[in-house]
Amino acid sequence: MDRQAKAVVCREWGQPVQVETITVEGPKRDEITIKIAACGVCHSDLSATTGKIPYPPPLILGHEAAGVVVEVGEGVTAFKEGDHVVSTFISMCGKCSQCVRGRPVLCENARKAMFNLPDGTVRTKGADGEPLNVFGACGVMAEFATMHVDNCVKVDETVPMQNAALVGCAVMTGVGAVFNTAKLEPGSRAAVFGIGGVGLNAVQGCVTAGAEMIVAVDSNPKKLEMAKEFGATHTININDVDDAAKAVKKLTGGVDYAFECVGAGPVVEQAYKSLGRGGTAVVVGVADPKDKTTLTTLTLPADERTLKGSWLGSARPQHDFPRILGLYKAGKLKLDELVTRTYPIEDAAQAFDDMVAGKNARGVIVFD
Ligand code: NAD
Ligand code: ZN
Repeated sequence: MDRQAKAVVCREWGQPVQVETITVEGPKRDEITIKIAACGVCHSDLSATTGKIPYPPPLILGHEAAGVVVEVGEGVTAFKEGDHVVSTFISMCGKCSQCVRGRPVLCENARKAMFNLPDGTVRTKGADGEPLNVFGACGVMAEFATMHVDNCVKVDETVPMQNAALVGCAVMTGVGAVFNTAKLEPGSRAAVFGIGGVGLNAVQGCVTAGAEMIVAVDSNPKKLEMAKEFGATHTININDVDDAAKAVKKLTGGVDYAFECVGAGPVVEQAYKSLGRGGTAVVVGVADPKDKTTLTTLTLPADERTLKGSWLGSARPQHDFPRILGLYKAGKLKLDELVTRTYPIEDAAQAFDDMVAGKNARGVIVFD
């Protein structure tokens, strides 16, 4: 059935987001409709409003949400009404060679579902009847969303929705970069560049994985304070030093792992330069498509360094989302503390402004 829903929409790059009443159609084959309970505000949503992530407007934002299934389409067996689910912005077909080899974030079919559902169409339209694109095949910054089952993960119903939502992006991305991409060895030294919702989770991933030293690097003193609360052993404010990479090296002797959680070539260079011999730099931040990085080529072989990327924390969402929520329930990952502030959907523009101003670990839009 069709449902009316308030949704956060980008109508034009460079303009503030707006809240509109839209129509969400019911599910087709292999799709489900979810009543969204909470949706985190991620820097990637902001990047879609500026064109840095070039999804064409009009676009419903949101890819980090949790909610309850209210309708299931034909052929759906893995979900039923009442199930709690978390969205994932990577559509995983489960059948292509990447999915089969255990790397669903590289799913060969995922590119078909970047700003629409996997069949190339959408279930959403504005008041004018025109179709609205959906961020990451999700578009979950809205009261309802109809998604393909390949973009949904069933989760434990006892976890508060606003916590579960964050596993859909920030937590999976940050923690997964440490657990899955870097496979951080206990007792090693790490640095995290950029302490937003993602970087903070890289910090706590390092804690849980048993890092000895964790250096948090940011320009915002409030973020560095948060990093300490999440287990960073040292902090560096880039405004207090000439060269952040040198400052990290001085403190640690060169780190075994550096995580770039900003999305800018110069910060990737710093992360790489902060490595010791044998170190691995993991690029998590999403840079502008034209952005470039340079590095001293010789250090790759001579120091056996590694530079690698991490997409959604190299997740296997169906396995990792429940695993992360299990660690939260066991007191080994902080999720409550990640939610600095909740907002009604009417205040979505404020939530974006507060992210830009660096006020929140994560701001979360909550729905009635
Ligand atoms: P955020 O805006 O909450 O945080 C970014 C942080 O970086 C801020 O604390 C800011 O002060 C800091 N910063 C900015 N410039 C810096 C610099 N030169 N040195 C050190 N710190 C600096 O953003 P977020 O939601 O945490 O996202 C971070 C990045 O990760 C974005 O690029 C986002 O698009 C990307 N992202 C990637 C994935 C993925 O799958 N790889 C998933 C989600 C988000
Ligand atoms: Zn995100």
